[in-house]
Amino acid sequence: MHELSIVTSMISIVRENMARHGAGRLKKIKIRVGEMTAVEPEALRFCFEVCAGGTDMEGVILDIEEVPVRGQCIHCKNEFPLDRYLDSRCPVCGGESGGYVSGTELDIVSMEVE
Ligand SMILES: [Zn+2]
Repeated sequence: MHELSIVTSMISIVRENMARHGAGRLKKIKIRVGEMTAVEPEALRFCFEVCAGGTDMEGVILDIEEVPVRGQCIHCKNEFPLDRYLDSRCPVCGGESGGYVSGTELDIVSMEVE
C-alpha cells in the first residue's frame, strides 16, 4: 500500500528530527498532501494510527492539509486550479498549463511537541 510506505518514512523522519532537537513528547504532526500524489488522507490517517499504536507515537494527531492542484498558464502566467481528470485551460486567455505550481507536495510542515 502506497500510504503505508509514506507513513513509515514519515515516522522515521519525525523520529530523526526529534532526536536531533532533543524534543519531548510529540503531540501533533502537520503534513501537506497535494492532490496529485493520489494519497487518500483517510488511508494515511488510518496507516498512521496502525503504525503509531503501541509506540511512543500513539495518540499523536496527524493534521493533514490537502493542497489542490494548480497550474500556470504558459501564455499569461496566470495560476488556476487544475482538475485531475479534465483538460483544464486558463480562465483568462484559454492557454494551456505549462506545469504544476502546487498539488504535488508531500511534506511534513511542522511538529508540535510538549
Ligand atoms: Zn492564460
